[in-house]
Amino acid sequence: MTSIESHKKAKALKPGSVRPAKELCSECGLCDTYYIHYVKEACAFITQRIDELETSTHNRPRNLEDENELYFGVHQEMMSARKQQPIEGAQWTGIVSSIAIEMLNRGLVEGVVCVQNTKEDRFQPMPIIARTPEEILAAKVNKPTLSPNLSVLEQIEQSGMKRLLVIGVGCQIQALRAVEKKLGLEKLYVLGTPCVDNVTRAGLQKFLETTSRSPETVVSYEFMQDFRVHFKHEDGSEETVPFFGLKTNVLKDIFAPSCMSCFDYVNSLADIVVGYMGAPYPWQWIVVRNDTGKEMLELIKDQLDTKPVISEGNRKPAVQQGIKAYDDAVTLPMFAAKLLGLVIDRIGPKGLEYARFSIDSHFARNYLYVKRNHGEKLAAHVPEFAKRIVAQYKLPE
Ligand code: FAD
Ligand code: SF4
Ligand code: SF4
Repeated sequence: MTSIESHKKAKALKPGSVRPAKELCSECGLCDTYYIHYVKEACAFITQRIDELETSTHNRPRNLEDENELYFGVHQEMMSARKQQPIEGAQWTGIVSSIAIEMLNRGLVEGVVCVQNTKEDRFQPMPIIARTPEEILAAKVNKPTLSPNLSVLEQIEQSGMKRLLVIGVGCQIQALRAVEKKLGLEKLYVLGTPCVDNVTRAGLQKFLETTSRSPETVVSYEFMQDFRVHFKHEDGSEETVPFFGLKTNVLKDIFAPSCMSCFDYVNSLADIVVGYMGAPYPWQWIVVRNDTGKEMLELIKDQLDTKPVISEGNRKPAVQQGIKAYDDAVTLPMFAAKLLGLVIDRIGPKGLEYARFSIDSHFARNYLYVKRNHGEKLAAHVPEFAKRIVAQYKLPE
């Protein structure tokens, strides 16, 4: 008689029921499967294990004395990049989809965990295991909402797949790394994106309605390196709104509590990370963390233009002012916001310094959030690298 692994006896939670992390749950999907059995050690909001998992994943810890590693995690190299022939309708130029397609076409993996949208709603996430390039392409562009990507984990075991690529954001990847050895795979590849300020579907609606001139026609948006939100509309037009003109007082509460408590902005446990914030607009930013990530990048190198990362400006005064302004929920009149946006764009931080600006601002805000709302978790929940980053600033009580 073969014995069933203990996790297979666990019961997945029903949709809508309270998750073990309660209000801090980011709906990563783990608890929709029998892998809920491991939730105590896997959930990013119950047991924060970034330091330990970084060492087991990348074979060494983050070097906290090196400013780039302190901020961007363990890595071998970083670069600015863009596809020579962008994928139409991708979030940026489609580097993420291209790596996934190439891995499938070359037989490196049998499936790719990614997230499409439902037929009814372009922003409602629908995680799948893609087995064709068409299915990967149908998952292009961000679904800027909490997405239960790990809800497909049981299907992996049932399908008998041995080689898999998972695309996901930090909280999903921490839970994935914690159960990696239980999945029965020969090889797992992880392609991450940075992630911050995520929202529920209802929160997204509120954001679109308060910020865009035409919420119903928005197909994608991004908080760009030029200090503006760029909305793309169905008719191909682009709308920009300066960060400093956002209705902070209205929007303050839309971010999910998980995302107000998250310190894995740069997806520390992925093999390779593809974002934008460390590259000058309109380039993408690639962080290769380990040999597996290098192997993945090599597959599409000939499809890319690349250039070295840059770092310009001084973020610190702007971060310090921003901490207070956010806390006081300041909203500038739109004309002043536009002017300020222009000035900051011209003299403000660029490249890696912009990425540090964004990390500092979000970590300071999130540190205050955890301190004020979950004070008992503060010491264990905030990783050492984030504590060091936040300690550079004077925070309000
Ligand atoms: P594409 O080829 O268009 O592929 C996008 C991939 O993202 C798809 O494979 C899809 O499966 C996956 N995906 C879509 N929505 C989700 C989701 N909700 N959860 C998990 N996976 C998803 N980069 C930064 O540099 N700074 C940021 O602050 C930042 N915030 C982000 C916030 C969110 C919620 C997300 C999903 C991404 C964020 N990114 C951020 C990453 C960035 O927006 C792009 O996704 C990345 O640069 C890849 O672009 P691309 O054109 O190569 O992707
Ligand atoms: Fe479960 Fe994921 Fe929610 Fe944690 S974040 S409680 S692991 S679904
Ligand atoms: Fe998960 Fe953090 Fe992104 Fe929220 S901000 S979805 S917690 S990675």
